[in-house]
Amino acid sequence: MPFELDFAGHKAGPAQSPVTPRKPPTKQSVGERLEKLGLRSDIDYVLHLPMRYEDETRITPIDATQPGAGAQIEAVVTDVQIRYRPRRQLVVQLADSSGEMTLRFINFYASQVKHFDVGTRIRARGELRAGYAGREMIHPRYQVVTEDVPLPDRLTPVYPAGEGITQGQLRTAIARALARADLSDTLPPPVLERYRLEGFEKAVRLLHNPAPEVPQALLFSRTHPAWVRIKFDELVSQQLSLKRAQAARREQTAHRLSGSTRLVEAFLATLPFRLTRAQERVWSEIRDDLAQPYPMQRLLQGDVGSGKTVVAALAACQAIDNGFQAALMAPTEILAEQHFKKLAQWLEALGVSVAWLTGSLKKKARDLVRARIEGGDASLVIGTHALIQEGVEFARLGLAIVDEQQRFGVEQRLALRAKSAGGQPHQLMMSATPIPRTLAMTYYADLEVSTIDELPPGRKPVLTRVFDGAKRAEVIERVAAAIRKGQQAYWVCPLIEESEALDLQTAVDTHAALALALPDVAVGLVHGRMAPGEKASIMAAFVAGGVQLLVATTVIEVGVDVPNAALMVIEHAERFGLAQLHQLRGRIGRGALESACILLYQGPLSALARERLSILRSSSDGFEIARRDLELRGPGEFLGQRQSGMALLRFVDLETDQWLVEQSRDASAWLLRDYSEYADRHLERWLGGREDFLKA
Ligand code: ADP
Ligand code: MG
Repeated sequence: MPFELDFAGHKAGPAQSPVTPRKPPTKQSVGERLEKLGLRSDIDYVLHLPMRYEDETRITPIDATQPGAGAQIEAVVTDVQIRYRPRRQLVVQLADSSGEMTLRFINFYASQVKHFDVGTRIRARGELRAGYAGREMIHPRYQVVTEDVPLPDRLTPVYPAGEGITQGQLRTAIARALARADLSDTLPPPVLERYRLEGFEKAVRLLHNPAPEVPQALLFSRTHPAWVRIKFDELVSQQLSLKRAQAARREQTAHRLSGSTRLVEAFLATLPFRLTRAQERVWSEIRDDLAQPYPMQRLLQGDVGSGKTVVAALAACQAIDNGFQAALMAPTEILAEQHFKKLAQWLEALGVSVAWLTGSLKKKARDLVRARIEGGDASLVIGTHALIQEGVEFARLGLAIVDEQQRFGVEQRLALRAKSAGGQPHQLMMSATPIPRTLAMTYYADLEVSTIDELPPGRKPVLTRVFDGAKRAEVIERVAAAIRKGQQAYWVCPLIEESEALDLQTAVDTHAALALALPDVAVGLVHGRMAPGEKASIMAAFVAGGVQLLVATTVIEVGVDVPNAALMVIEHAERFGLAQLHQLRGRIGRGALESACILLYQGPLSALARERLSILRSSSDGFEIARRDLELRGPGEFLGQRQSGMALLRFVDLETDQWLVEQSRDASAWLLRDYSEYADRHLERWLGGREDFLKA
């Protein structure tokens, strides 16, 4: 029998420095380590697919090997010795009928020397190097063979492995699983036929052990029909479980909030404007949801300034009018306070009691608010994540609204939902970063989506200009001119992720420099490190017009609404992401004034930064910008932390596999309708008890 050894230093293993001794083996057993990779059941192993392959089906004569390329040779040991200069190493000389070469091991065991008795036949695979003394391989994989040991007739899979797990262990375990698992198809023949899919068993067998003729490029790019089948299955499992989650939600009970519409009508009558058609439409979608006996779970997306707050207020009125409380949670204190002021102004006149809860409230005030929430006296409660903290109990929460939901983690959103005694509250999530439809479809578990695709009338597009930092004086002059005309302006400094202190410094320095350059202007400063009270008072001064120029870090990113601010300068615009720049820019152009946004950059610009700035200059449409952003960054990064708790796609790449998404969706609907038993088996195979991932 041949034996194969995986030594430290061979290519698939972790890199090891020759001077540091091997890490002592951890206490974990192999089984535990495999479990860490998510490998428990046979089907887990079957679906643990190779990253790449090595071709061990061929032997290359030594004189035909190319330096820099991988090769497998078979040759006989002619000499073996341990050398001590320049460092301790095991050096093996080999020869086949075509030529000679050297194998070199820096990490080796004394016992290993015995593998290389002169005359032993060795099969070695590794990268060829042109060494000082001719051809050589450093730390090749090798095995001792006798003349009659056949070559494998399949490509050798290389699997994703964790620490302390060898390829050999994985191969053995996977081969065993392939022999024993149920590989029968979970898609019925008509589905396979309609979408021209390969059978499941054929696909997995091919992917684990492809014949040498299978083009490796197709395997590598995951475009081979066997890969397509796997990806199709993965998407189908996701779709099925979403649909199931939806059905499960409909089994839960929530209070119908549809009896009275008095408050909604009164509110609409007091608004100084009419709803846009898009607002009307999303409101009617939400109103219908609220009337259902199961909890609403709806995402309201709309560009910055599209008027989501009014819609949220309408939903709150509906809940309150039907005897329930509503809560609105915002990601920052500034934004929460803005909401509070606006909604209190709108709704208190109609007799609604509005309460305010944030972490910065003094204990006594907080206890008082809590009591009002608990007693049910507060009908609408607005706040930060303080709302979901211990000790806050709602008397009868009927509607939970989360603004800028992309800023919250899944758990936080769920926590607000859990604040209701008896029955699930309806949930409305709002976001100004629109997500393209296919992405929303695959990433957001069980969520209905409403979109405001129209801005209120009279909005003037913001003129966006890009300026080299060298032209700073010119920019300051423009700011001065705007302020002379009675307008206000923002000067935004970037958040440097690695260093909050630096970030602060930029804002503080900029504030000082601008205050010096513009002695007649009231220049304010707001940043994330300020005490909440201080922040609030600066913001209040800006809203009231006392502060004319506001230097800010990105704390103003979301939601701040000052119609008289018509100019924004963004410092180091090259450091911001597209979505963030768009959000920031959304702070202006909110009133009747002609607005301008100046993107100041510090060159030289990377190609990506240049692309971002030019997209922003040419488009003011959040959807278009999101689409371009997705193109530039890919879905993983685009979704960022939003991904947590959402569907995990292991094999599908949403960038290249968009076309499969639609197909798998149709196939899933078909499966549920006509082949529910197949659907059950499919879900069991792909998710087997792990559906919790998808509950969000
Ligand atoms: P966002 O969607 O970014 O949260 P807001 O709800 O803050 O937007 O609305 C932006 C501004 O537009 C607010 O001043 C709001 O009062 C105003 N607004 C909302 N809807 C309309 C409308 N239909 N007509 C005119 N102004 C509106
Ligand atoms: Mg908003």
